Parts: sequence; C-alpha cells; structure tokens
Amino acid sequence: MRLTRLYLAGFKSFASPTEIRLPANTLAIVGPNGCGKSNLIDALRWVMGESSARHLRGQALDDLIFAGSGERAAASRAVVELTLDNRERRIHGPFAAYNELTVRRSLDRDGQSRYEINNTRVRRRDVVDLFLGTGVGARSYSVIEQGQVNRIVDAKPDELRGYLEEAAGISVYRERRRETANR
Ligand code: ATP
Ligand code: MG
Repeated sequence: MRLTRLYLAGFKSFASPTEIRLPANTLAIVGPNGCGKSNLIDALRWVMGESSARHLRGQALDDLIFAGSGERAAASRAVVELTLDNRERRIHGPFAAYNELTVRRSLDRDGQSRYEINNTRVRRRDVVDLFLGTGVGARSYSVIEQGQVNRIVDAKPDELRGYLEEAAGISVYRERRRETANR
C-alpha cells in the first residue's frame, strides 16, 4: 500500500490549500528550519486518527488550526486529506474493494470534528481500523519522528510488543479479540 497524496488547508502553518504528491519511494522531506516539515508529519498522524494534542506537538487540539500571521487572518477550519493506493488490496473491511481511498479529517474552531472515507462520513474508529495491520497508522512504527528512536529503545515490554505485533500484522486480530471479549 502506498501513500500517494497529502492535502492540507488551514492545518498549522499550511494556511492556503496545499497538495503534496508523494512519488514512489519518497525518501525524505527537506527544507529550512521552521518551514513545516514536522507539521506535515503531524498532519499525516492526525488524519490517521491521532487524538492526543501532545502527540501532535500542541497543547490543545485547536493549535492544529492555522492561527494567523502578520497580514493573514486565522483559519476557521483545518482539513487534511490522505490518499492511498490500494491496488495491492492491503486494506480490509468495508472499503477493501476500492483501488484508491481518500481519508479526510476536518476540525472547526467550535471543536466539531469529522472523518470521511471516499466522501462517506465515518467514525474515528473506522479510520483507525482501516490502517490496522497495514504497518501504517497514527502511532505505528512507519512514521518516525525526532526522539522516537529513543522512545522505542526506552519502551516498556508491553509497548515494544505492540510495535512488534503491528510489524508482524497481527495487531488486527488482537483488536478483533478485544472487541469480541467486550461485547
Ligand atoms: P525544524 O527543521 O526546525 O524541525 P520544521 O520544518 O519541522 O522545522 P515545523 O515544526 O513543521 O518546522 O513548523 C514550525 C512552524 O509552524 C512554526 O513557524 C510555527 O509557528 C508554525 N505553526 C505551528 N502551528 C501553527 C498554527 N496553528 N498556526 C500557524 N502557524 C503554526
Ligand atoms: Mg521538525
């Protein structure tokens, strides 16, 4: 499965609508300090369902909405879209049959948040489920930020086990078992 496109509007420093095409084998995003590289990673995590402001380097969730600058007014809404190529059928569940999937998340200043997959409104957990077992996800090992190597080195045994289970593709079964047990 490949991430092919990231779109941001009103998200952190990305005030204007910005589309980033991700060519195959993207290795690195480079740019001067403060240009928004880490904000792109935050956007990627956020659209995949990250709900902790702290994991997105903010105090509160509305720190994610463009706060305004010199002559530009603050945005009233943050939108991020992530497009995936699913031709290899790595996605399971209700959206498994689509060749291409676009996950969209938006947040308004009044705290209204919504998720959509291919323009269908879904719950946060539908988005989290979409990525389970694919190795891609808000807290997976495939997005590694500054400091995370230390976090893995210092992880408690059960956290480490979580990373290994996701890498082995079995976390999806653990999640299903947990759901069944809770019914
Ligand atoms: P470095 O190379 O130092 O790691 P970077 O490219 O990762 O830099 P980011 O951390 O992505 O930079 O971007 C930081 C910039 O984003 C700062 O200028 C900060 O003011 C801006 N920023 C963050 N949140 C918002 C917001 N809600 N509204 C406007 N600007 C924001
Ligand atoms: Mg950075």
